[in-house]
Order: sequence, then structure tokens, then C-alpha cells
Amino acid sequence: MNKEIAENVLEVRRRIAAAAARAGRRADEVTLVAVTKTRSPEQMAAAVEAGCCDLGENRVQEYVEKREKTQYLAENGEKNLKNLKIKWHLIGHLQRNKVKYIADSVGLIHSVDSFRLAEEIEARAAACDRRIEILIQLNPAGEEQKSGVAPAEAEGLALEIAGRFPHVAVTGLMAVVPVADDPEAVRSYFREVRELFDAIQAQHGSGALPWMKQLSMGMTHDYEVAVEEGATIVRVGTGIFGPRG
Ligand SMILES: *Cc1c(COP(=O)(O)O)cnc(C)c1O
Repeated sequence: MNKEIAENVLEVRRRIAAAAARAGRRADEVTLVAVTKTRSPEQMAAAVEAGCCDLGENRVQEYVEKREKTQYLAENGEKNLKNLKIKWHLIGHLQRNKVKYIADSVGLIHSVDSFRLAEEIEARAAACDRRIEILIQLNPAGEEQKSGVAPAEAEGLALEIAGRFPHVAVTGLMAVVPVADDPEAVRSYFREVRELFDAIQAQHGSGALPWMKQLSMGMTHDYEVAVEEGATIVRVGTGIFGPRG
């Protein structure tokens, strides 16, 4: 099992590198986040030992439980885990009343889609005396059941947050695109998000939005297309751990 996870991590990295090369990019411009929702702490440990130190959870309660269990594993037995620094990503919808549970440990929140959520992150980050990195989540296809702001609102929200909240670092954009049988079908969404990202960066990167560097897009079925279109973070679950039960 563990061997399989390690092999999958290598395979995903190989494909990321190939996709990056096709776009004239370097493989190390892309961070692989292993999406560990529904996976056991032992499976997570296998991914970390295979060199995947960025872990993504989509629900706060599971995040908190997994983080505690992983710390326990690191301190008791899993020697290899001990020396590895895990960066925790919150990739799912975040309710304001849950921010307090992750504020002291989260590495990057991918799913900020409102001023009020950012306001709560600011308060909790200030209380922990740290600056929390966030991405503005986009819903480029306007899908009803998905959270995220319309692309046209992203720049305004990013500026509003950056202007008001010193303990929040607006680090980039995140997008969830429709599920399609053929990943080519979503290429135009990735490209649109990438062009928006470039425009915001060009306009504000040396001014109001100095940390605007990350573009989180692409999951198991479409991460290669996302990398070709400029993703700097891909979020892969099934491709590393197999189908979710
Ligand atoms: C579950 C999830 C993923 C990973 O999905 P896979 O298809 O298993 O790679 C990526 N991003 C978000 C926001 C998710 O909820």
C-alpha cells in the first residue's frame, strides 16, 4: 500500500514535470498538494514520506483530527515523519465560526470568497500573532453548487482584503472548474483564470498585492492541463491515494 502511494507520487510528479516542460516551465514552479480527505493518517504518512509535504483537507473537523494524529505519529514511531515539515492546506469551503480551529496551524487557505470570511481570518491571525496566507477562490463557470466569486469580482475583493487586513496575505487565486470527461473541455477556464491572475499581478504585484504569486488549479483528472495553462499549485487526491471509498 505504502509502496503504491510512493509510486503514485512519483508518477504524478513525472506528469507535472512533462506538462510543465510542454509549456516551457520548470517543474519546481509547481507545488503538489496531496489531498488527504477521507484518507487514513497512515496513508497520509506514506505520502509525506514519499516527499509530499503539502497536505490538503477540505473540512475543518477532519483537518484538526488528522493534524493531531499525524503529529502523534511523528512523535511516536514514524521516525521519518519527524524531520519533515508538513504544510497544511485548507481547500474546502470554510465557515467563519471554524476559522479559530485552524488559525494557528494552517499554511494556506485556498477558499476565501468573501470579505467577512477574511475579516474573521484577520481577527484570528492577529490573536495568534501571525500572518495567514490565503487565496481568493473563483467559480469561473458560475456553477450554482460551488462556492467562489465570479472572476470579475476577484481583483476588487483581493484589494479590499489586502487594504484592510495586515494579518492576511493575499497570495493568489484558486479555481475549481467543472468536472468534464475530457480535460481539454476545461482548458479555456484555466486559461481565463490564468489571464486574470497575470493581469492582477501586473497591475498590483509591486504595489497593493505583493504576495500575489500562487495559482491553485487542477485536480486528478485535469492537473496536466492546468499546469500547461500556468498552475503553480495542483490539488491531487485520487491520483495519489486511489479512488475514495
Ligand atoms: C477533493 C478535492 C480535490 C482533489 O480531488 P481528486 O479528484 O481526488 O484529485 C481538489 N480540490 C478540492 C477543492 C477538493 O475538494
